[in-house]
Amino acid sequence: MLSPAFYLGLFLLVAPWQENVYKTKREKMVSQQIERRGVKDPVVLKAMRTVNRHEFVPADQIKNAYEDRPLPIGYGQTISQPYIVAYMTEVIKPQSHFKVLEIGTGSGYQAAILSAIVKEVYTIEIVPELGRSATERLTSRYKNVQVKTADGYNGWKEHAPYDAIVVTAAAEHIPPPLIGQLKDGGKMVIPVGSSFLTQMLILVEKKNGSTTSRNLLPVAFVPLTRKKTE
Ligand code: SAH
Repeated sequence: MLSPAFYLGLFLLVAPWQENVYKTKREKMVSQQIERRGVKDPVVLKAMRTVNRHEFVPADQIKNAYEDRPLPIGYGQTISQPYIVAYMTEVIKPQSHFKVLEIGTGSGYQAAILSAIVKEVYTIEIVPELGRSATERLTSRYKNVQVKTADGYNGWKEHAPYDAIVVTAAAEHIPPPLIGQLKDGGKMVIPVGSSFLTQMLILVEKKNGSTTSRNLLPVAFVPLTRKKTE
């Protein structure tokens, strides 16, 4: 029988080594999947380098956490591909004073990336279990994030208006309440389309009360589901 001190020593030796392994994987993820595809904003790249993506996936997915694809997080939902998270973050041109609303908390990873860049993040998840686990993950280290369980179609009026809105589930149309809660001069990025095959990521900009939208790229998100009663 080895002494507890032995196990403690072993842990203290292995833990930093393991963190270094993840850091190397993260570095590779940023340079090969994200910078190479054209994401340039230094604040976005820094956030992608800093946030531990492996802490936002279920235990059986940790080994895949830095791969170039979405991963299952339970309840039929996914954590988005790292490149898509970086791209959507860059497209809203995030600034340190921003208040951002996210629809579709999922694992909490996109919210954590935003929280490393902007002042306040509000995020809404419709699946209570996912909302709960994301809250647990985020509260200790990402203190400027607030999570709520609700149908994000209606936005979060209490904290509106937002400098930017990031929707990470595919909607059949752009929810009018979200446009209403966007600041004048604000940007919203949202996947729109009814099936996995026909979704387009759209950038909506609000100026002088009217909105313009621009197609960015074809994407495949899980659908934005609706709650019958709010
Ligand atoms: N941003 C997440 C990934 C999103 S997956 C991450 O970084 O991990 C899309 C999420 O949107 C799922 O968790 C799904 O449950 C949630 N969702 C779907 N419809 C929703 C709605 N109407 N309101 C809020 N969340 C919704």
